[in-house]
Amino acid sequence: MTMQSGPSSPDFIKRPLQLLINGQWCEAVSGQRIDVENPATGSVFTSTPAADAADIDAAVKAARASFESGSWRRMSSVQREQILWKLSDLIENNIDELVTLEILDNGMPISLVTRAIERAIDGLRYYAGMCTKIYGRTTNISGKRAEFHAFSQLEPVGVAGLIVPWNSPLSAALNKVAPALAAGCSCILKPAEQTPLTALRLGELALEAGVPPGVLNVVTGYGRTAGAALARHPDVDKISFTGSTEVGKELVRAAAGNLKRLSLELGGKSPVFVFDDADMDIAIPRAAAAIFANTGQICYAGSRLYVQKKSFDRVVEGVAAAGRKMKIGDGFSKDTELGPLISSQQHKRVLGYIEAGRAEGGALVSGGKALEREGYFVEPTVFTGLAPDSRLLNEEIFGPVLVATPIDDLNELAAKANATRYGLGAGIFTRDLSNAHRLANLIRAGNIWVNFYGGADKSLPFGGYKESGWGREGGEDGIEAFLEKKAVYIRL
Ligand code: NAD
Repeated sequence: MTMQSGPSSPDFIKRPLQLLINGQWCEAVSGQRIDVENPATGSVFTSTPAADAADIDAAVKAARASFESGSWRRMSSVQREQILWKLSDLIENNIDELVTLEILDNGMPISLVTRAIERAIDGLRYYAGMCTKIYGRTTNISGKRAEFHAFSQLEPVGVAGLIVPWNSPLSAALNKVAPALAAGCSCILKPAEQTPLTALRLGELALEAGVPPGVLNVVTGYGRTAGAALARHPDVDKISFTGSTEVGKELVRAAAGNLKRLSLELGGKSPVFVFDDADMDIAIPRAAAAIFANTGQICYAGSRLYVQKKSFDRVVEGVAAAGRKMKIGDGFSKDTELGPLISSQQHKRVLGYIEAGRAEGGALVSGGKALEREGYFVEPTVFTGLAPDSRLLNEEIFGPVLVATPIDDLNELAAKANATRYGLGAGIFTRDLSNAHRLANLIRAGNIWVNFYGGADKSLPFGGYKESGWGREGGEDGIEAFLEKKAVYIRL
């Protein structure tokens, strides 16, 4: 193992990394560890414990004990709000270190990861404000028989397992940690095995902010061991998961044991429509960013591009040219626009899809190759000429690979958009807002962006239709996912 790397290797990774359970740092019971690799170089620079069922059990016990003790859920909501604000300030004060950890771990370009963490801080503050705004309702009873004072009240769901992927690790974690803690839950956060660093540092900052021990436990480990043990644990009340649709379905089966509540943010195969009347100075760069941002490793990546026939060549060539111009490299370099894929496994997988596109008769407009350098880099790639049933138009690739198709018949647009098992996002570029509204109404997806693409404001629900998930993050939905509703009847 070689220790390294980056401009200023944070002190946090100079010490051996451990699990955070009940406010204490500890090794996995098995003593096993997972190497952590920098995807820009392929070199291992640290390791984290490989937790299994025994460690998950310890973390669940700690979370349960803290929940039952009321150390967090019964704390005054004003005090909880203050602690979450303090945590947001600590994250902000340590943003340079967190950005460095994220780039080492995940390879994201510095500008992208900085924006992602800044937005996650805003999200934490948004939910901090909700601690003091959790309301039930009084109701006028609808039955005739007796006089009642009746009301509903909202309570934290209990012990919540938060399982997150590697593609924007700290913001994915905070998307769950913020509403879960605001609701009063006690949590076990399980980061992806590829990207454990910022989750562990978040756990440390939460303790410093005053989150009581046992309320936010951070357990690193593989999905099939640690993740699966959390998902099937009988004393976990809720799993909030972001990741692939395949694992999401496994979680549905695992949750059946004690019928734990389940929120699922899953994969996508999102379409982008560009009409002849679009402002092409906006549509072309946005359509390119829709697929190439974060090297295509975004759940709502716009991986299917549909362009009205007259503009097809211009838009496809514009998107391909934008891809060719992108500065590819190490995330630490300020001008890097496209970082590496997360792992050699993902690298092979994406190159396999490019091969499949060729084999299926697709015409390669740009890209199509791995970069001849260390690390897991793939060129931004654009295909045309693929049939609707091609694998590339139907399967989530999670890489910088776009398939462009001309639009002939405007009546078929919604059918094209909806011809997928997913339903996460869609983009529409047009000056005809009436047309945009009509199409937005017909598309079965959780997020529609008109004349731009991507992103989610904390005030609005984010999530997917169909096999893109269950439930929503963001807004009131985000916190309700961590609350139970109780009805109380008092006979007068
Ligand atoms: P993944 O499903 O392989 O892993 C996600 C997390 O689940 C990791 O922490 C992993 O360790 C864990 N895990 C794996 N197998 C498990 C099991 N059997 N039981 C419990 N936990 C398990 O996904 P990934 O490859 O890390 O991430 C990419 C996927 O995430 C893509 O499909 C992407 O679309 C999706 N994603 C969705 C959103 C969204 O908001 N909808 C956001 C980001 C990523």
